[in-house]
Amino acid sequence: MHKVKNRTAILLVLLLLLATGLTVYLVRYIRHGAEWASYSANAGYYSGGELAVGRVLDRHGKLLSAFRDGKRTYSSDETLRKASLHAVGDRYGYIGTGAERVFSSKLTGYDLINGAYSLRSGGNDLFLTVDAELQKAAYQAMKGRKGAVAVADYVSGDILCMVSLPTYDPEDPPGSFDGEEYEGVFLNRVLSSTYTPGSTFKLVTAYAMLDSRADAEEEVFTCTGKLTLPGGGEVTCPRAHGEVTLSDALAYSCNCAFGHFALELGADTMAAYAEKAGLLDALSIDGVSTAKGKYRKAENESDLAWSGIGQDKDLVNPACMLRFVSIIANGGKAPKLRLIQSVHSPVGFPLGAYNLPWSKRVISARVAETLKEMMVNDVEKVYGSENFPGLSVAAKSGTAEVGGGKEPHALFTGFLTDPETPYAFFVIVENGGRGSTVAGEVANAVLQAAVAKKP
Ligand SMILES: [Zn+2]
Repeated sequence: MHKVKNRTAILLVLLLLLATGLTVYLVRYIRHGAEWASYSANAGYYSGGELAVGRVLDRHGKLLSAFRDGKRTYSSDETLRKASLHAVGDRYGYIGTGAERVFSSKLTGYDLINGAYSLRSGGNDLFLTVDAELQKAAYQAMKGRKGAVAVADYVSGDILCMVSLPTYDPEDPPGSFDGEEYEGVFLNRVLSSTYTPGSTFKLVTAYAMLDSRADAEEEVFTCTGKLTLPGGGEVTCPRAHGEVTLSDALAYSCNCAFGHFALELGADTMAAYAEKAGLLDALSIDGVSTAKGKYRKAENESDLAWSGIGQDKDLVNPACMLRFVSIIANGGKAPKLRLIQSVHSPVGFPLGAYNLPWSKRVISARVAETLKEMMVNDVEKVYGSENFPGLSVAAKSGTAEVGGGKEPHALFTGFLTDPETPYAFFVIVENGGRGSTVAGEVANAVLQAAVAKKP
């Protein structure tokens, strides 16, 4: 009798082990199968290290990359190749977040049931959400300066433009990437970099004020051009702005007022709203993680005041900032930013669902509407509507000091208020100078191209 019991126990243990092993294998297979299959040592997909299957196209079907005559080949348009290097990738896989690398399993047509069924037929067609014409317009407007340009449809979440500079021609890469000219060239600055936000961060401080204080819009602050801080140190403005409301302070980018607001709100509240704005976490865009921003909780009043102005240790990622202004534009609801429009099998059969409507309320409708009105006011009062002919722009500029005797970074972010052209944007021109004029000009060029495309 004892023997039978023992055998039953042993059998049960063995069965349990088998079940556990099988579960672990299945979970790992589901989670990593695509990676294993498209790992670049898998000779079936790769030829001499290059992805040998699949085509990458823009949202209108314009070819960006394909495998032809034994090698990975890019668009015949040189400007488009340079403009889309970071979105698409390069044949050596230097661009870590390029579609050819991060979406390789979509291109190879790997799936859990059939494995690599479409390998023999040349792989799938991956349609990105980006628009080739906007890519080119953004690249040209940057005039070779380093930085990033990003445009998204704030309702659907489609990223319509994602350009990073410096760049190079993937069909004719330079012999050497040394030197300042190619500094950070393999980095997609939209997804993987962080910048001092400068005054664009005042949007976060304004959001915190509006959301946490019922009287935020009525409060009047008097700017004398200098704010002496209780613990020593001071915040200055280029001139005395006089009596300003929150809306005036944002338009004139009054440092004294925003330093004062940050002191009123306190370090914990400021940090909480930077978090709520989605600026401190990595964003996942179709599984591609962005860099994380940073808000260092200030330890003294001077740091706290400057943090509310965007000049302390604050750091933001362009894609996260693009999402934040998209939330304001979209009435407080966050769209899910995306880069994949669709994936089609070699015979044109759509695979998977990539354009399901999705949004999540982040900011109350009231606060989003007020922020939007303030950003419209910025353009009307200070940046000049005439600099954006025919467009209804809501925006905030930033001029971020970088030190070292260099020109500041120029930033400009916001959106179009016309529901027919729901485009949000983020532009940074490194060492470009003044935000609203330099980065504003780039934004205008891209937005004009985007609006012109609408029938
Ligand atoms: Zn001021």
